[in-house]
Amino acid sequence: MNLEGQTALVTGGSRGIGRAICVQLAEMGANVVINYAGNKQAALETAELCKAYGHGVLTLKADVSKEADWETMLQTIQEHFDSIDILVNNAGITKDKLMMAMKEEDFDSVIDTNLKGTFLGMKLVSKLMIKKRYGRIINMSSIVGLRGNAGQVNYAASKAGIIGMTKSIAKELASRNITVNAVAPGMIGTDMTAALSDKVKEEMAQGIPAKRVGTPEDVAYAVAMFAAKEAGYLTGQVLCVDGGMAV
Ligand code: NAP
Repeated sequence: MNLEGQTALVTGGSRGIGRAICVQLAEMGANVVINYAGNKQAALETAELCKAYGHGVLTLKADVSKEADWETMLQTIQEHFDSIDILVNNAGITKDKLMMAMKEEDFDSVIDTNLKGTFLGMKLVSKLMIKKRYGRIINMSSIVGLRGNAGQVNYAASKAGIIGMTKSIAKELASRNITVNAVAPGMIGTDMTAALSDKVKEEMAQGIPAKRVGTPEDVAYAVAMFAAKEAGYLTGQVLCVDGGMAV
């Protein structure tokens, strides 16, 4: 599974799962574009880790929920690299509250970043992929999108929506040699889950058949599998990376 000569754009590549994906794809030989929202220091740290593999690395700040930011980002990428072969729509946020306490802006911001951001990425990057007649799109869902979760109605809606979009766009782009798949992680140890106490994490881990919280690298391996050129007949799929939680 060699990605030499290919370019990957990973949204939310500065930290957590996105960082592990960037490093994994760089290790496989890809040029990597690390998108981030505001944490430049973290993006530069990811860039250093990727540079160790000797391929092209670029860090770009852009809010994935804004079409104008996408346009600027894609323009810059094309000035540095040929095109984009692999798009990983990984950027995501949570604003957890029980429904009765959830404000309109909590709902809108999560939908805008997670769902609309993924839609904009697929729409704009697939234009470049169609010209090349090649592409791999991987969208970051969650088992919360499959099973729901109290306190996460906004997040669950965004992640379930990503699954619907993944299947729809897989059908639209399959004849163009572009695959579209989703990864649905379970409980992964990142900043997103850091707010939970060790006790809660331990209790949650006991409910996972694998008896441990996942690592960002666990998710990155699954993304790498979908990103490979060998995975050309694999599209519209949702792969749970959850230690057996959703089984
Ligand atoms: P994280 O550690 O909180 O990192 C979030 C990343 O998204 C950061 O790189 C952040 O950039 C970026 N980001 C946030 N809003 C953005 C925006 N509007 N535009 C561009 N980038 C933006 O999260 P994580 O745990 O690695 O999660 C990554 C993805 O996996 C998310 O889609 C999440 O929903 C999904 N997921 C996570 C888990 C889990 O247990 N952790 C489980 C299932 C699914 P800055 O660094 O600049 O802020």
